[in-house]
Amino acid sequence: MHSYVHSVFLDEQKCTGCTTCLRHCPTEAIRIRNGKAEINEARCIDCGECIRVCPHKAKKAVCNKLDAMDRFRYKIALPAPTLYGQFDNLDDVDYVLTGLKRLGFDEVFEVSKAAELVSAYTRLYLNTEGVKKPVISSACPAVTRLIALRFPSLKDNLLRMLPPMEIAAGLAREKAEREHPELKPEEIGVCFISPCPAKASYVKNGFASYKSRVDVVVSISDLYFQLINSMSHTEQPETLSDSGMIGIGWSSSGGEATALFNDSYLAADGIDNVIHVLDQIENGNIPPLEFIELNACTGGCVGGVLTMQNPYIAKSRLQILRRYLPVSQNLLPTSEQYIPEGYFFNDDPEYQPISQLSSSMAESMRMLADIQALRGRLPGLDCGSCGAPTCRAFAEDVVKGTAKESDCILTMRDTLRAYLESQKEDGHDGA
Ligand code: SF4
Ligand code: SF4
Repeated sequence: MHSYVHSVFLDEQKCTGCTTCLRHCPTEAIRIRNGKAEINEARCIDCGECIRVCPHKAKKAVCNKLDAMDRFRYKIALPAPTLYGQFDNLDDVDYVLTGLKRLGFDEVFEVSKAAELVSAYTRLYLNTEGVKKPVISSACPAVTRLIALRFPSLKDNLLRMLPPMEIAAGLAREKAEREHPELKPEEIGVCFISPCPAKASYVKNGFASYKSRVDVVVSISDLYFQLINSMSHTEQPETLSDSGMIGIGWSSSGGEATALFNDSYLAADGIDNVIHVLDQIENGNIPPLEFIELNACTGGCVGGVLTMQNPYIAKSRLQILRRYLPVSQNLLPTSEQYIPEGYFFNDDPEYQPISQLSSSMAESMRMLADIQALRGRLPGLDCGSCGAPTCRAFAEDVVKGTAKESDCILTMRDTLRAYLESQKEDGHDGA
């Protein structure tokens, strides 16, 4: 089992132990211990929800700084399409792309271009006999990790294609190697400009045996002011953009699904909705569908916690931008019948069901019985004062040995009251 490298961390100095994040974490990864939040790394999916809700800015995402690209001779920027929705009155994507080049990048390769190719190949994928339906998008890394941890029975439904960020990285590298044979491969650096910490974690961890081809991840929020400054000095942008409505549409929930030209789909966004839909698929409670698009962030990638703008405003800006674009600049020739090998990931990710209590069935059953018995003794208020998000999670912690029953202040109070009463009955006044 390899350990997962996360991008979401706690700044202990700022944490007051207020329990806000505890109540919002979708995987119950947070506990409050000694007055500070602690993240259980095995459970965290890097969704960024705790960053979004912390009133004290004690949770943060760790990405690279732009100067991490200095070590490369040839620098390539991969802007996520969400980046285009961050600017007022933008009527031409080329201002953003030229602005990036002015910041020191030798080349820009739009992730939206790769998204159009992924859409085209997903249409072929859906028509392939034997593919398990509904096919679940594998583009949001928080969702794929959630499936690995909580819904391993749905692993065969995952679209086995790499996300646009990785396809863009591969194509951009190949282009640079073709056009600049004087460069060694290690002299070419690829920088993804990210809307969320989950994508930064994907780059650090890869996916199963697949290793990311991105070298550096810089957040949109970190680059924003430098980029605005650079764009404001651009009078005549270069003609660089090579994607259309489909590619830019991937930034918002529903964009990936509508690009399949197939009405039999469902698109859900926001981590609670995603979990609900996965529960329903697992229980067989959804109508027969071809494709399911799931985004952990509200509104899709435009709602990523590393963006600058409100997701609804960003979405409306992107809709205006899309109006002047062709449907796609990357349609496949009709003769194309096969998906290139480089678009696939071959191995399943490591499935580590977090609900599994022990590798031994007998031990799991015993622990489950203990958890149920303890739950019956707990007040059931889910108050969080024990440091766990719910009484059920607390009971599990106690049975696993990571918490003590006496950490529940209500149980403590009742125990103390019973003790004082027994003392009174024995003739002690408790003084
Ligand atoms: S929300 Fe969580 S991380 Fe933020 S101060 Fe409260 S307990 Fe600490
Ligand atoms: S990033 Fe998401 S899963 Fe991880 S601790 Fe924060 S809220 Fe929980």
